Amino acid sequence: MEFKFHIPTKVIFGCSCVSKNGSEFAKLGTRAFIVTGRYSARASGALDDLQNILEQEGIKYHIYDEIENNPSLESVGRAAKSALDFKPDFVVGIGGGSPLDAAKAVAVLAVNNIEPVELYRNEFIVDPLPIVAIPTTAGTGSEVTPYSILTRSDLQTKMSFGNEHTFPRLAFMDAAYTMSLPYDVTVNTAVDALSHAIEGYICRRNAPMSDILAERSIEMFGECVGALEDNRMSFEVKEKLLYMAMLAGMVISHTGTTIVHGLGYSLTYFKKLPHGKANGVLLSEYLRFNFDSIEMKIQTILKLLKLSSISDFKALMDRLMPDRPVLSSQEVEMYSALAMEQKSTANNIRTVNRQDLEAILMKSLENRR
Ligand code: NAP
Ligand code: FE
Repeated sequence: MEFKFHIPTKVIFGCSCVSKNGSEFAKLGTRAFIVTGRYSARASGALDDLQNILEQEGIKYHIYDEIENNPSLESVGRAAKSALDFKPDFVVGIGGGSPLDAAKAVAVLAVNNIEPVELYRNEFIVDPLPIVAIPTTAGTGSEVTPYSILTRSDLQTKMSFGNEHTFPRLAFMDAAYTMSLPYDVTVNTAVDALSHAIEGYICRRNAPMSDILAERSIEMFGECVGALEDNRMSFEVKEKLLYMAMLAGMVISHTGTTIVHGLGYSLTYFKKLPHGKANGVLLSEYLRFNFDSIEMKIQTILKLLKLSSISDFKALMDRLMPDRPVLSSQEVEMYSALAMEQKSTANNIRTVNRQDLEAILMKSLENRR
């Protein structure tokens, strides 16, 4: 065996974890720059809890709440300018993957005199400020990954940067913050987490420890499927989803993702599909494409989900995510060409070429409305 395993994030999981752990914030300094979206931090109750605890600890803060879904390089550049004025000791991201990923970019840009596009060099003269992540969705696992995925309008896609210094220092995980999520966001984000676990499990960079995390994550998704389908969202289900998404984040921290994410970026960029849904519509054809290369593990995935075939898996994804876009043949060609440029494509267990990606896209979206 030969592998590396490194998660430097201190995870503090459980009800009221923010309110109960004020001293953890105090260790990071006296000035906090809060990065969030327009709505989720307040709707979830997370921002209230954070403000109370920061005030209690005598920590000054500034709230930057203009991060959009799938944040762009330009947007993190604007947030970083505001951080440069405030001169924080640490950065707190509150929200789904979008604000958490933006917070990572801000933590780098606030202390390095570089343009946002230079984030992709992945080497920074000054180490980023400490990052605190408070997720309000259960999906991306960004609270335990080093990745920040930003929209590149110059390249018409999304692209990730990150190194071992962009892992959050702390992650506060309270499922209460996910209770306000609309049903479709709950489903889409859970499927994103499932996609992380599956892609990490059957890719080239898996490791024995990441496989353990992936198997448990997939199994827990299976335990929540009934509730997801029937929209029975108890606190217990939400907590399980938050936990399985975190495990899946730990998986991709080690393994990266594959062609599902690579192709999905175009469905988000051009067709406005939410990130998790973009992955979900591709997953069954992805499993079929890789089946002969890694049959045993795909059988294990199905068993963990208590499904008997890839067709059953496809039916489940169709029920969870019924509406899909229709693509022209030019779109199929362009999205496949863009996905060939993604680093994650080379990580797929079966070697792929552009024609393979075109076939996966066409089969995934055929006869769908
Ligand atoms: P998101 O884009 O962060 O949020 C989706 C929507 O849900 C937003 O409108 C948001 O509101 C709202 N929302 C979030 N939490 C809420 C809550 N508790 N109650 C009510 N509404 C809430 O969605 P996401 O799927 O979590 O993140 C997707 C992004 O993460 C993509 O850019 C994707 O590429 C990235 N990602 C990152 C990683 C990683 O490892 N870093 C992995 C996978 C995906 P607001 O508008 O207020 O924010
Ligand atoms: Fe993802």
